[in-house]
Amino acid sequence: MGASEIAPGIYVVGGPEISHAKDATVFLIDFDGELVMVDCGAGRSVELILDNIVDQGLDPALISTLILTHAHIDHLGAAPELRRRLGCRILIHDLDADAVEAGDPVRTAADWYGIAFPPTPVDRRLKGEEELLLFGGETLHCVHTPGHTPGSIAVWLDRGGKRVLFGQDIHGPFLPAFGSDIGQWCDSMEKLLRLKADILCEGHFGIFQPGDRVEAYIRSYLGQYGRSEGDG
Ligand SMILES: [Zn+2]
Ligand SMILES: [Zn+2]
Repeated sequence: MGASEIAPGIYVVGGPEISHAKDATVFLIDFDGELVMVDCGAGRSVELILDNIVDQGLDPALISTLILTHAHIDHLGAAPELRRRLGCRILIHDLDADAVEAGDPVRTAADWYGIAFPPTPVDRRLKGEEELLLFGGETLHCVHTPGHTPGSIAVWLDRGGKRVLFGQDIHGPFLPAFGSDIGQWCDSMEKLLRLKADILCEGHFGIFQPGDRVEAYIRSYLGQYGRSEGDG
């Protein structure tokens, strides 16, 4: 599996089978020439990811923004290098930002992966339930979906008649060291189901479509970990 365009102007440019076994999936959205990256891998495959972007006919220098779906190393390890080399700004939810800025080895799961992560500045902290970001006349939605970590977000946009959802680590895991909260996670998954996405760009298990497969994927984990009926 290599890099590819998965919807008009939406690309997968890295991931466990594309760039490095420790990388979560790396997505790039082209907003009329301005590029937005969603997660960036564990940091051991920056050259390959940049090459993949060039192979798709895009210029990495046009990446203005790196959105991190949460504070884990497999999703953000390359962030310090990309920020330094490309001058892109880093966005992450407020509730996961401290871990990034402190280089916290537990909250970033860097210890778990055996990868060092330096304290890294966050350029913008996303706050509250949802923030709307405007790029090239389109709206990119960043929705707070706590559970796996306190500051996990999902990102979505409508493009070419399809709703594309970037929902990483839907599967967990849920650990006290990550600040996980299963109750919050259930609510977050319900929030994702209500979006009725046509395409799910997942962090470790690939791309799911059409909508009924997206729903089945999310429901499979709700069935496994979710509160049972009447649990409240
Ligand atoms: Zn994670
Ligand atoms: Zn992950």
